[in-house]
Amino acid sequence: MPNINRREFLKLGLSAGSLLALGSPSDLVTKVFGKADTHTKVLILGFDGMDAHLTNIWMNQGKLPAFERLRNRGGFTPLQTSLPPQSPVAWSNFITGLNPGGHGIFDFIHRTPEYYLPTFSSTKTSDSTKTISIGNLVLPLSGGTIENMMQGRAFWQILEDHDIPATIFKMPSNFPPVETKQKTLSGMGTPDITGSLGEFNYYTTEVTELQEDLGGGEIHEVYVIGNRVEAKLPGPENAFKKNQPESSIDFKVFIDPVHPLAKIVIQDQEFILQEKEWSRWRRVRFPMIPTQSVSGICMFYLKQVRPDFKLYISPINIDPAAPAMPISTPASYAKELEKEFGPFYTKGLPADFKAMSNGILDEEEYLAQDDTILEERKAMFEYELSRFDSGLLFYYVSSTDQRQHMFWRFLDPQSPMYDPALVHKHGTAIEDIYREADNMLDMAMSKADKDTIIMVMSDHGFTPFRRTFNINSWLKENGYIRLINNRRQGQEEAFMNTDWSRTKAYSYGLNSLYINLRGREGEGIVNPGAEKEALVREIVQKLEKVADPKTGERVITKAYITQEDYLGSQKEKAPEIIVGYNRGFRTSWSAPLGRITKEVFADNMDKWSGDHCMDPAVCPGILFSSEKIRSDSPALFDLTPTILSLFGIEKPDNMVGKKIF
Ligand SMILES: [Zn+2]
Repeated sequence: MPNINRREFLKLGLSAGSLLALGSPSDLVTKVFGKADTHTKVLILGFDGMDAHLTNIWMNQGKLPAFERLRNRGGFTPLQTSLPPQSPVAWSNFITGLNPGGHGIFDFIHRTPEYYLPTFSSTKTSDSTKTISIGNLVLPLSGGTIENMMQGRAFWQILEDHDIPATIFKMPSNFPPVETKQKTLSGMGTPDITGSLGEFNYYTTEVTELQEDLGGGEIHEVYVIGNRVEAKLPGPENAFKKNQPESSIDFKVFIDPVHPLAKIVIQDQEFILQEKEWSRWRRVRFPMIPTQSVSGICMFYLKQVRPDFKLYISPINIDPAAPAMPISTPASYAKELEKEFGPFYTKGLPADFKAMSNGILDEEEYLAQDDTILEERKAMFEYELSRFDSGLLFYYVSSTDQRQHMFWRFLDPQSPMYDPALVHKHGTAIEDIYREADNMLDMAMSKADKDTIIMVMSDHGFTPFRRTFNINSWLKENGYIRLINNRRQGQEEAFMNTDWSRTKAYSYGLNSLYINLRGREGEGIVNPGAEKEALVREIVQKLEKVADPKTGERVITKAYITQEDYLGSQKEKAPEIIVGYNRGFRTSWSAPLGRITKEVFADNMDKWSGDHCMDPAVCPGILFSSEKIRSDSPALFDLTPTILSLFGIEKPDNMVGKKIF
């Protein structure tokens, strides 16, 4: 089995960023097409994670007047989410009209059965294979590729077949964007400029106990010498050099000796920030070779000047004016938006929750960043709305999901992270974002003409996340996982200490459980057929009986056997079991990447205190519609054939859902 270090491990499946920068796809000219279509207009607002229960409560209290109006005009119903209710899975259900058995996205994290190593489920990157070396330089002869792993066709591709125009704004799981002439901007899954899911940089003179590499950012210890700080901003790996060293940009900070402010000098830019002030977007260019550079955008936040110096730099987003990776179709669409609005967040999951979890940004600072994201979104929404004249417009908002993850603790006195002082200050953070969603819907309803069909949906709801359950530790305790060295339990990731010749089952990802199957896994021992099926049933029964020793509560409401629930061509690649957690419980922080801690249970002491990777039955999403909803309990994959039917298109045979109107 290949050995990997921690840093490589964290980046697994997410390299090749810089290489892609150099294949610069030629600009496609936006083609006008589809104007032949009918006058049907369908507007869909997607609010990630908007919860049916909370929406209902606040709507009934009169806090969400636009939602209430839409409910009265057409209808409102909880929307069944996907199995499991993770965003990449759920949005893929919606995009393709398939379930995971068809589109092949089963979890955030998949694994390679041969080597038992984790991979990201939604994208696969490969480096350029042909190179020539000249001294220290390596010239790639062809660019690396990055591939979207979702199978099946996106509904806007089917609309395109019928000449119906669509604009798809930041659809999750659409990275790199699927091939189409429609206007699409990539969503969740879009990395930052380094190819990772988002790495902030934090410069401080403070002696900190935090690790230098947090797996979400890097802490740089700096020194103030004569009111001056000199530092480096790390960038993407340099694909032109041997061993692909990290590129970087030097910058200087000049601290005012009297006032709480500083001047930052980076490349050809100079700007002054007051203490506690955010910069606007700043463009930085990482030189690769004399003729090539990679452009990114980031924001600076001067957290503190004295006594300790503290400067935060956001993850460096792909520059929409010169994208280093494909982020839109046509390629000119991202540039067009940049021309209109200036730089904007291109990264999926834009708010920096890692920085808040690690105490780099506090609640107020996080909310300030999130507000900026929301302002950008609202401005672009208004722009797209004003030119929406036929076909379909889908518009996506991430803040609803991210805020609920980080601020749920303030709605939940039972949360181990409940803090009355902070509740006083930020107790309405989630309600505020629901009201913002209401404002956006209000704008949409006032701008849309009366014939426009409006739908508002979410991919899943939310529940508290108070207790963590390390399913791999549970498997070990129950004899399904055997270790090589029991004394080293809990120290190694990626099952490095696992004796596969005596291991029957293991879990990667947030809800997936795999059998160590002979002929499929590298060192599989369980025979396919009757032996596997009996083992699956045995584990399911045991899992559904697990109780939390602290509260006596049931931990898993249902463990799903995927061969019974999934349909489609990818079904054989699925994990054997999807674990459906009860409200309040989720897999632990270390189990998804294959670490087997000594403790099975623990309190969740992260600010990430709300979650949805549970049993789909406990976290339904929402569906509002201007049309009467005729289906009893619609699901995400029912929306896809519904959309097609609104344009008079028959549902393709492989779609599993039914239309709801
Ligand atoms: Zn989420």
